[in-house]
Parts: sequence; structure tokens; C-alpha cells
Amino acid sequence: MELRPLGSTGLAVSVIGLGTVKLGRDQGVKYPGGTRIPSDDEAKSLISAATSLGITLIDTAPAYGTSESRLGSLLAGHRDRWTIVTKVGEEFQDGLSRFDFTPPAVRTSVERSLIRLRTDRVECVLIHSDGLVENAPELDETIDELEHLKSRGLIRSFGASTKTVTGGLRALDRCDVVMVTLNPGAKDDLAVIAEAKWRSKGVLIKKALASGHAAVARENAGPAAQATDPVAEALRFATGTPGVSSVIVGTSSPAHLAANCRAAAGE
Ligand code: NAP
Repeated sequence: MELRPLGSTGLAVSVIGLGTVKLGRDQGVKYPGGTRIPSDDEAKSLISAATSLGITLIDTAPAYGTSESRLGSLLAGHRDRWTIVTKVGEEFQDGLSRFDFTPPAVRTSVERSLIRLRTDRVECVLIHSDGLVENAPELDETIDELEHLKSRGLIRSFGASTKTVTGGLRALDRCDVVMVTLNPGAKDDLAVIAEAKWRSKGVLIKKALASGHAAVARENAGPAAQATDPVAEALRFATGTPGVSSVIVGTSSPAHLAANCRAAAGE
């Protein structure tokens, strides 16, 4: 597994990371056909596969249902081999998202993430943007608090998972890392990635498979997809874009994870 620097954070991350929405949440997701939360045995197999494949980066969030707390027990005893990314600002309860980016909410959220993840620090915390805060004046207070948490040693780096190009570019002014969308049908954030590369900031990619729609395109293409597999193409596109540190692919399938790693390696 190729490792790449996460910008100037001093961290090296696997070029394929594991996204864990599906580990803890089955409501309000955009995956074709929905999703089913994996059993404990299935979750253990997924983490075991990720470990064997050399994946070291795992992405979670308080808004991903039980994802953080499940990871706390799944990674116990092996914590130090993982780079954990979690988020602040979004809560998902009873099928609805609520957002709070105020400094006290950020502080409380990070402290709760540490308890759920059974750790004393996380390597990166991202602002889980609703698409509005990233362009609002309040963002500076949120970042001030993340800087404070970094100085306390509770987080090693911070950034923002953004929804607009303007928000992504603004985040680069004060953050270590951005998480942006990139796939063959969504290229707007290439402008953010290029600027991040220029400034030596870390870049994490979300939705590289268009939240699973690339796999639907492959099914619909039938045998023709063997020549140009849309899933493999999307992964090669994202990992091959200059400036990208890691592509966070969401899956609950060890077989899909292995195929994704092979595709990223050009096999
Ligand atoms: P994604 O990675 O583009 O797609 C995930 C979907 O693709 C899953 O339904 C998965 O199903 C399927 N898949 C993966 N590999 C496959 C393969 N080899 N063959 C067939 N199907 C495959 O979308 P995402 O999960 O929305 O985004 C990735 C991660 O980014 C998330 O898990 C999360 O960590 C992060 N994210 C963050 C934000 C935010 O901060 N606002 C938003 C979205 C996502 P299977 O389980 O069947 O493999």
C-alpha cells in the first residue's frame, strides 16, 4: 500500500482510506439501494481486511451513528497503527441532521469522540460542514477552537469537509487538511485540490465512487465494463490527481475493499 504525506502534518497516510458511514448508520444515506449495518463479525472482518491490505487511515464522524463507538472497540489494542479522522459540527439523530459549530459544541464533541474511540488523541478533526458555515463569518471561531484543541494535544491536525469551492479555498487559509468531493462526474473541487497542493495542505477525497453510483454504472454497462470498469477508473482518477493524499472509500465489504486497493495500485 502506497503511503503519502498528509500535507505538512507530519502524518503519512495510505492512499486508500476506509470510510465508515456504513459501519454505524443506515438512515438518511444516499447509497443506491440503501444500506444495512454490518454485524459485529462482519465489522471485525472489514477491519481485519483493511489491516491486511495495509490501510492505515480511517474516517468516521459523530454523525455516522454508532461508527465511532464501534471503532473504539474494533481498533482496541491496535490503536497506534491507525490514523483516525473524525469530525465536529453535525449530529444525526432520529433521522435528522443538526448542526452546531460553536466553540463549546466543538470542544464537547471532540472530548466525546475521544471517549467513544477509546483514545487520548485523534490525528485529524474535520469541520463537518453543512455547506453554509464554510462561507460564514462564524467559521473563524470554530477554527480558533480547533487550534486550541490542537495546542492541548487532543488533536494532531484539523480541517474541513466542504461542499463548495469557495468554502474549500477558504478552509485552506487556516486548516491543515481539506476533504473534498472528486469523481469523474464531480470535478469542481479540482480547483481546491490544486491550491492545496501549492500550499502543501492535506487532501482527503470523499465520494470517489459517487456514493456507489459508479458501481451501478458498471452493472448497467454489463460485459462492456470489463474494458473500462467505472469503479476502477474512478479510483485511478482520484488517486492519480496531483495533490490528493488519500481517497476515502466507503464500504462494508472486505472484497470491495481489496478490489479498490488493487485498482488504486493499477492492478
Ligand atoms: P463512495 O466511497 O463514493 O461510495 C461508497 C459506496 O460504493 C458504497 O455503497 C459501497 O458499497 C460502494 N462500493 C465501494 N467499493 C465498491 C466496489 N469495489 N464495487 C462495488 N461497489 C463498491 O461514497 P461515500 O461512502 O459517500 O464516501 C466515502 C467516505 O467519505 C464516507 O464513508 C465518509 O467517510 C466520507 N464522507 C464524508 C462526507 C462529509 O464529510 N460530508 C460526506 C460523504 C462521505 P459496498 O458497501 O457494497 O462496498
